[in-house]
Amino acid sequence: MEVTARTRVAGVIGDPVRHSLSPVMQNAAFEAAGLDWVYVAFEVPRGSGARAVAAMGELAIAGLNVTMPHKAAAASACDELSAAAARLRSVNTVVLREDGTLYGDSTDGEGLVRSLAEEGVELEGRLVLVIGAGGAARAIVPSLDHAGARVTVSARRPEAADEAVVLTGGATAAYEQLGDAVVEADVVVNATPLGMAGEPPPFDPDRLEPRHTVVDLVYDPAQTPLIEAAAARGSRAVGGLGMLVHQGALAFTLWTGEEAPLDAMREAASRALTERS
Ligand code: NAP
Repeated sequence: MEVTARTRVAGVIGDPVRHSLSPVMQNAAFEAAGLDWVYVAFEVPRGSGARAVAAMGELAIAGLNVTMPHKAAAASACDELSAAAARLRSVNTVVLREDGTLYGDSTDGEGLVRSLAEEGVELEGRLVLVIGAGGAARAIVPSLDHAGARVTVSARRPEAADEAVVLTGGATAAYEQLGDAVVEADVVVNATPLGMAGEPPPFDPDRLEPRHTVVDLVYDPAQTPLIEAAAARGSRAVGGLGMLVHQGALAFTLWTGEEAPLDAMREAASRALTERS
């Protein structure tokens, strides 16, 4: 692909940002879709997120992804927010619209729901236990609820679990009795970063059964201790790569108005992860 003076620019802002898979994934998507776009990573220090988003108009940056620590600041810099982003006061995607206004969305929750649908995981009427109550958990809980799941959140800080379910009418489960909540659930979603450091889940994996679907939002490494334990117990195991691809695909469509080339995105992200390990 040749970058010219006409090439449109999209990117990701974050700090740190050099580990991001989004440039590899989105550039593969632009290429597969035959679009004259390029995607770059901008290392923007804490405190400068809102100014970076506001500068999109000046620099004609057509789209941005937003990662830690700028998600709330980026939301405050947008002229209009999707319902999901307004609820969370947090955005991971910003679109520079033709009239110069900035539209913010949060695509993580819908990204997870789409990745589970792709895997054939039924959510309607099923009991989904979300472990952890940070940014990712807060983003996915309303989307799981909207998809018809009965959602329970369990986190080491009970007040954070309360905040994560407050808008859904969902329940919370005591962290001290997490194993019992796992047994009751149909789908167990680990929304803590424990797997990134190779740490085991905060419950005894022997409580898992073949009827469980186990989801780890972590995608690097692909084989987290939870994913390995779930597979060993005969449970269905789903890693975080599908969510990453689908949240990115939703952003791609918001920026370009075109359907995202999912296979190209998945392949690029997966190749980059393999090369890293
Ligand atoms: P976060 O905002 O920092 O929240 C992390 C949550 O995990 C908090 O509830 C935190 O509890 C809890 N936690 C952290 N360490 C723990 C421990 N040792 N024991 C028990 N609980 C612990 O992070 P996040 O943004 O929600 O991200 C969570 C994970 O999801 C990350 O690994 C991230 O890479 C992954 N993720 C994946 C995707 C994807 O596309 N696949 C998208 C978003 C996030 P405290 O609040 O008490 O610290």
